[in-house]
Amino acid sequence: MVMVLRFRILLLTLLLATASAARAAGRPNILFIMTDDHAAHAIGAYGSRVNRTPAMDRLAREGMRFTHAFAVNSICTPSRATLLTGKYSHLNGVPVFNRFDGSQPTVAKYLQAAGYHTGMIGKWHLGSDPTGFDEWIVLPGQGDYYDPSFLTPAGRKVIPGYVTDIITDLSLDFLKRRPTNQPFFLMCHHKAPHRGWEPSAKYRAEFARRTIPEPATLWDDYATRTDALHENRQRVFDDLTRRDLKMTPPSGLEGTALAQWLNAIPREAEVERDGHREILTGDALNRWKYQRYMQDYLGCVQSVDDSIGVLMEWLAAQGLAENTVVIYTSDQGFFLGDHGMYDKRFMYEPSLRMPLLVRWPGQIRPGSVEDALVINPDFAPTFMDLAGLKVPFDMQGRSLVPLFHGEHPADWRTSLYYRYYHDPGHHNTRAHYGVRTQTHKLIYFWKKDQWELFDLVKDPDELHNLYSDPAQQETVATLKKELARLKRELRDDDQFANEQPGGPGVDGPFPDKPLLPSKP
Ligand code: CA
Repeated sequence: MVMVLRFRILLLTLLLATASAARAAGRPNILFIMTDDHAAHAIGAYGSRVNRTPAMDRLAREGMRFTHAFAVNSICTPSRATLLTGKYSHLNGVPVFNRFDGSQPTVAKYLQAAGYHTGMIGKWHLGSDPTGFDEWIVLPGQGDYYDPSFLTPAGRKVIPGYVTDIITDLSLDFLKRRPTNQPFFLMCHHKAPHRGWEPSAKYRAEFARRTIPEPATLWDDYATRTDALHENRQRVFDDLTRRDLKMTPPSGLEGTALAQWLNAIPREAEVERDGHREILTGDALNRWKYQRYMQDYLGCVQSVDDSIGVLMEWLAAQGLAENTVVIYTSDQGFFLGDHGMYDKRFMYEPSLRMPLLVRWPGQIRPGSVEDALVINPDFAPTFMDLAGLKVPFDMQGRSLVPLFHGEHPADWRTSLYYRYYHDPGHHNTRAHYGVRTQTHKLIYFWKKDQWELFDLVKDPDELHNLYSDPAQQETVATLKKELARLKRELRDDDQFANEQPGGPGVDGPFPDKPLLPSKP
């Protein structure tokens, strides 16, 4: 009994010592900047062949660049629910485009209760009002690029201008008005570069003059891959509409006729080249579609890069740069013509990988590169840890703070679990789950009972499905075992496996009632 008491006193003393050390150091501010659909391979620091991003590159140069950061369900709404809860979709109740149950615990609530001044600005896309924020102003659904409406606790308001610039200004406004006796936690969530891909006037003009290099897999014929890839409807050549490609409608079209024209897939395009008009068809048309898509996508990214530059300059000018952790990421990756696709959803690398750049002067060694396997459920535990709070037992990710300090915990994960549900969704992408290690990836399309195995070392572009290769059967067996272990450990009991989304999709309004029951 005496021993137990002594131990408790010792523990209490240790805890108080730790707490006072944390107070003395001062809790850092957290500026979390997230974009929508920004692929890592459209960032200079990640070796982009298609654009330059000076502000993002500066974050990498002055901080840490994560090379193996991945979303666990590569689609907008589920990714945001995971970010807030630190949980996989099957435990936070948002496997597809469900309304987020804001009564559940979130990292914003924990930080707010611990004395952080919390803010949420920009794209929210969770169907319910934000909770856990001292201030919030969010886009309804996807929001608009130009003269967007915003939702606020006081109602809806339209702010004239370009959405990325507006979200930057609102973020600066939040920072300028913040109570200076509290650390801040700001989630600055850009809409760009989501589909619609409407750049600012400046960057529309600038990128329209550029010729963007084509990716190696633009003309992928999908040989050896499963039916799921063959059936996708997110192909640059076959699925981009006239609206996506910003084609000019014939004069006189109005209403439904105009909408039909804009939503159709063009089989030819009239363009001006070298001073004369030319009709493009076949491969020439396909190449033109890729250029139009990428010019606008990258134009949108450029405004985001400017935004990061503005926020970093402001922090420096205010003397806040030293004690502010700046994090840049995207809700998932994106196909930039890779495998002939745009959009995300699939567990293939361009869509699975998130950019992740973290600057924390004095704590992160400038120019660090970290290749540990990191997942988006790790964000919430990381924010908890930065705030000096204990990570709740039910969060499924793990704090990245030891990695920030250059440590490599011996028990860090060596594999990650992924699960995508929105089938068929708007792009006819088949539901799948899978496991990725540092060297291999095994994907199971459960509604089709088909598998894919990739050797990521020998085949980083994932062009050769090795699942049926007799020489790979030991690897298949090992990965299947690991997949089952992860599924069990993460408590995925297949509860959403047979749900038909049937929802309004990415661009529609949320229904009045949740599509699926929220988890307790
Ligand atoms: Ca997204």
